[in-house]
Formats: sequence, structure tokens, C-alpha cells
Amino acid sequence: MSLLKIEALEARHGLLTAVQGISLEIEQGETLALVGANGAGKTTLLRTLAGVHPVAGGRIVFDGVDVSALPAHRRAAAGLALVPEGRKLFPAMTVQENLLVALSAKRGGRWNLGTVLDAFPQLKPKLKAAAGTLSGGQQQAVAIGRALMTNPRVLLLDEVSLGLSPLAVQGVYDSLRTLMGKGTAHGTTVVLVEQDLQRTFQVADRIVCMLEGKVVASGRADEMTREQVMAHYFGHRPSTAGTPSQPASAT
Ligand code: ATP
Repeated sequence: MSLLKIEALEARHGLLTAVQGISLEIEQGETLALVGANGAGKTTLLRTLAGVHPVAGGRIVFDGVDVSALPAHRRAAAGLALVPEGRKLFPAMTVQENLLVALSAKRGGRWNLGTVLDAFPQLKPKLKAAAGTLSGGQQQAVAIGRALMTNPRVLLLDEVSLGLSPLAVQGVYDSLRTLMGKGTAHGTTVVLVEQDLQRTFQVADRIVCMLEGKVVASGRADEMTREQVMAHYFGHRPSTAGTPSQPASAT
């Protein structure tokens, strides 16, 4: 059984249907990347999964339970954690306080202050510093660490590299690699939105291309090419993209 099952999901912003009948299944331990042009609906989909944006139609089934109507804090307690675009830290609170806030989700597991600091050692000397004084990369580490503190079963990462220097992006992904333990029983399941396609291919097991609120293609990352994915960004058929050897499966 899939850990997360999305069935004909719809989400709206007023009259605009930003997520239009999306169906996806995400397996335990898998890293799935959502790619697509600006406005494709990636952020709205992640926010709807996390419960911070309402479901307008369809269902979200998490570990066999329909969570579509559950508020965000109940989904976090069940093990769905969102690292939102723009981090959304409490800037005047210390790093330690930002991390401990997440304990209210009260889930047991391998992540605690010590293991989060092992994964993000750059935060150790900053524990007593106000989060707002940290560099972008350090703040992103706090945001991911805060989500990990809830011991999520599914981590939803929205553009974690946005606005970071290449070095900071590398630092964040180095830390993420340890928790994405591919194919291992303890590997955290990850759904991520990442604009950097090269990075996406490095970390994802599966890539889902979105266009105008719909899934237009999906496939294993090692069976898709960058050209095929780019073609889907703009709604072209992958056959126009020039690498016909490994066709992506249209969904
Ligand atoms: P980006 O990469 O720019 O973040 P995205 O793929 O994440 O894009 P969304 O941010 O989910 O896409 O936006 C999907 C659609 O919903 C777009 O047409 C966008 O203009 C619209 N939209 C997003 N947020 C709002 C909002 N708060 N109010 C109204 N429309 C919105």
C-alpha cells in the first residue's frame, strides 16, 4: 500500500482551480519531485497536502486514512510535515526555540534536538542566536530541522534552495541526503519542489511534471532526460525534445 495516495485532488484560489484532478501514489522511502513552470500549482499542491490550503475535491489518503478534512496540526501529528517556501521561521526567537516549537506535534522517533544538530552541524554554534540573524542557508537548515523534529513520515519541501548561494544549497542538500536514505526502511519519504533541474535529477527517485494544475508526465528520474522534462514545462510533447531512447510515461 502506498504511504500517501492522492486521488483526483482539486484545490482552488477563488475561481482559479490551481490543482485540477491530480492523482498520485507515493511509496514509503521514495523521493518524489514536482517540477513545472511558475504557476503550475506545485506550491498549492504541497500546501493542500499539508492541510494549510483546503481540499476542494478528491481525497488525500495517508497510511490508509483519509486526512482530507483534517486541519494542518492534526496532519503534522500524523506525520506530514511541510517546509514552506520562504521558511516562515520566528525571527525573534532563538534557533533552539524555533526547533523546539515543533515538539508540540509530539511524535516519537529518531529525530530530536541532538540528531537534528548532527544532520545540520552548522546550527550547533547558533542555538542561542535569534533565527532572523542567521544566513539564508542556516535559516533553511532551521526550517528543515524544525520539520524533522516532528518525526515526519512524509516531508514536503517547497523550494528549499530559493534565494540561497550555491554553497548554501549544497550544504542543505548534503544534510538532506542523510535523511533521504533511498530504499532503506528508515528513509524519510520526501515530496519536493525544486527549480534547479540538475539538483532534482540528483535527488529524486521519481519526477512528476505539472502544467496548469495537472500532471502531464511522470517517470523514474533515471528513465527521464532533462530535455523531456523541459519540454513538459512548456506543454510540448517529449518527442519534440530530442532524446527518444527513454520515453517518460505520460499519466
Ligand atoms: P511557483 O513556482 O511560482 O511557486 P507553483 O507551481 O508553485 O508556482 P502555485 O504557486 O501553486 O504554483 O500557483 C498556482 C496558481 O495559483 C497560479 O496561477 C497562481 O497565480 C495562483 N495562486 C497561487 N497563490 C494564490 C493566491 N494566494 N491567490 C490567488 N491565486 C493564487
